[in-house]
Amino acid sequence: MYRSWPALWRRLALIFLGAALLGWITGLLLPFLLLAALGCLGEQLWRLYRLDRWLKGGPETNPPRAGPIWAEVIAQFARLRRQSRKRKRKISRLLEQFQQATAALPDAAVVLGEDDKVIWCNGASQVLLGLSPVQDIGLPITHLLRHPGFVAFLNQRRLEDSVEFPSPVDDALLLGARIVPYGKKQRLLLATDISRVRRLEQMRREFVANVSHELRTPLTVITGYLETLLDSDSPALAGWGQPLHCMQQQSRRMLHIIEDLLLLARLESQKERPPLKPVAVPALLADIADDAIALSGEQGHQITVAADSGLWILGCEKELRSAFSNLVVNAVRYTPAGGRIEIHWFAAADGIHLAVEDNGEGIAPQHIPRLTERFYRVNRDRSRGSGGTGLGLSIVKHVLNNHGGQLRIDSELGTGSVFTCDFPAELRVEPAKAPARNGMGFR
Ligand code: ADP
Repeated sequence: MYRSWPALWRRLALIFLGAALLGWITGLLLPFLLLAALGCLGEQLWRLYRLDRWLKGGPETNPPRAGPIWAEVIAQFARLRRQSRKRKRKISRLLEQFQQATAALPDAAVVLGEDDKVIWCNGASQVLLGLSPVQDIGLPITHLLRHPGFVAFLNQRRLEDSVEFPSPVDDALLLGARIVPYGKKQRLLLATDISRVRRLEQMRREFVANVSHELRTPLTVITGYLETLLDSDSPALAGWGQPLHCMQQQSRRMLHIIEDLLLLARLESQKERPPLKPVAVPALLADIADDAIALSGEQGHQITVAADSGLWILGCEKELRSAFSNLVVNAVRYTPAGGRIEIHWFAAADGIHLAVEDNGEGIAPQHIPRLTERFYRVNRDRSRGSGGTGLGLSIVKHVLNNHGGQLRIDSELGTGSVFTCDFPAELRVEPAKAPARNGMGFR
């Protein structure tokens, strides 16, 4: 562009020199110079007008012919126009591909703007959520999906959570939805059909429960007969004492596993939830500690309970007994003879807690996240040898879930472990007017 400027200056200089010469000859210097200036201005305005018409015209309009400077400005514009057209074509191709990809998605995807109004939704959101990509744009999603669980989920802003609710199109479809925030005040709602997964989980639960149920009766009969045989002093059984004893031990272990599997199946089933009642946890812990002392026997563990005697909670006593007992029994089984086991039951600012602390063998950090999985054991032989089923902590986790609580595990290999059950403060109830078995203090 800069190359044209000297030519323009030369041209203007020639025009004004010519005008000045004519003006000097005719004695009309000023009018001639004014005329030259007006002429130059008029020419530039005309070129500007043609450039404007070309820019506003369609892409097929030819660029206007122009003198120096303007020719370069027009060439520059033409180049920018070509680049912009190329970019537009690329963006629309990408947009088309994106729309094809989202249309092919089996999951519903809905873009929500300010006030959770629908900005865009894909094809699957029509099938799963009943949304129309034409009529529903601009409407708040809560006017379109009114399930109370979904509305509550949308209003709480925790990212890691998801919600399950029936599809408004078909009650038989169960949807799992997540919200992903992005950009400025925008959120992406993703919903998946999880009916099949839930059906399979239900089948798995029913299968385990049915098998356990079917095995329990024959095993109870076998254990009963083994007991009778062991009690008998018939000479025909001479020399069978050891094998019979071993068979009895193993059948008891199998019965224990079956009982735990049935308990887990009941805990997982939301249909058979027992009603929550006030539970005298201090008395419950005293019973559990008595059992633990009996289990420890000659090993002589020092078992102490420090429980707030006025701290009762709403819950299911049977389930809580099972969970707390599992933790205390584990502490006895995984703490060497003479070890210390402390049970604390207390309320704090962040809720109600039961902590079972031992100075036993402890657990290496890589095992801790997996301990609540069914049949997960750090040392399989050690667990079996001490009568473990591998289901104890899984039961604890489910019981706590059913009470709105959670299990925390802190442990150090060779030093000991603390298993803490956290309950929400809202579960606290006034103790019923019954004499409590133990007060605050150590037993
Ligand atoms: P198990 O019947 O094998 O004890 P659990 O589910 O109760 O099954 O526990 C899972 C595993 O967690 C156990 O096998 C054991 O390795 C470990 N564990 C549980 N409690 C303790 C504890 N107090 N100290 C050390 N390890 C423990």
